[in-house]
Amino acid sequence: MVDIKSMTLEELTAWLQGQGEPAFRAKQIFQWLYRGVTSFEEMTNLSKALRQRLGETALLAPPAVARRQESRQDGTIKYLWRLADGNCVESVLMRYQHGNTVCISCQVGCRMGCAFCASTIAGKVRDLTPAEMIDQVLFTQIDSGAPISNIVLMGIGEPLDNFDTVLRFLTLVNHPDGLNIGMRHISLSTCGLVDEIDKLAQYGLQLTLSVSLHAPDDETRSRIMPVNRSVGVERLMETCRRYFETTGRRISYEYAMIDGVNDSDWQADLLARRLKGAPAHVNLIPLNEVEESPLKPSRRVAAFQKRLEGHGVTATVRRKLGGDIDASCGQLRRKAMKEET
Ligand code: SAH
Repeated sequence: MVDIKSMTLEELTAWLQGQGEPAFRAKQIFQWLYRGVTSFEEMTNLSKALRQRLGETALLAPPAVARRQESRQDGTIKYLWRLADGNCVESVLMRYQHGNTVCISCQVGCRMGCAFCASTIAGKVRDLTPAEMIDQVLFTQIDSGAPISNIVLMGIGEPLDNFDTVLRFLTLVNHPDGLNIGMRHISLSTCGLVDEIDKLAQYGLQLTLSVSLHAPDDETRSRIMPVNRSVGVERLMETCRRYFETTGRRISYEYAMIDGVNDSDWQADLLARRLKGAPAHVNLIPLNEVEESPLKPSRRVAAFQKRLEGHGVTATVRRKLGGDIDASCGQLRRKAMKEET
């Protein structure tokens, strides 16, 4: 079966022309796909014969809602999707002043091993396809009725560890006949894969790169983020500076505040020093407690923020949405996995 929903309009056109279909058919089908049809039968402006042939040769496998949790506090909705092969991933719809934002997953599980993160506990099962990423946006929008204007790649998985798929996903959501979401409305979060950050810079995309830093010193960062053991903070920061020079886009740094691990004054001072030389924004995240991990949320978030600001670093504390629905990364999938075994 051909995964046509992972194709660009140009690829779809070529594929259909190879079967003797005119180019405008591709556009018709492309538009149907982004309207979220779940069968070729619904593509009513195509001939019955073509619809039947598509049904026999092309894949259209929308995810099913395995679980849906809606926060009573703020309307945040968390979806657990069951994919065609039975695996599950999560998306979260968040309602912000600046628009509805969906946080989506890019892999089933994750192999990065961060000590505080629920997504990585059972490792990585597989990469998602572009279609599976698009469907999270599309079906969150359809199910919730909330028009999506922003996307954050901050769900399960490491986007730069599934590079080609993520790049294709970005092209497709950006396409005027696709979801038509502007690059400036998309954030991509990475644990800091330096070669891939360099590679991404070459595309000059106007998206926001978020780097999960979580510690300014190698000892701490290597302890909580295994990815740091081979690269180190110094090289990561050099790569980030290069990224800014190439793209002109300010980088956003994520910093999950962990009690007694990364929340002392000297770490705030070192962090501020590390950020010198390029515009940056620090997002302090109150740690979401994960059952399997002994790490606890810091009680020094405000003091740490103040210390950073004293050094002239812009730092905000991330507002916690969906606190009553396990809305942190990987928690819902983890819960479902535990209940099934
Ligand atoms: N792999 C990517 C994106 C997924 S995680 C990355 O590492 O950036 C999105 C963000 O949530 C990352 O900054 C991640 O470090 C953070 N995160 C993961 N688990 C968390 C937890 N328990 N509490 C707070 N933030 C967490």
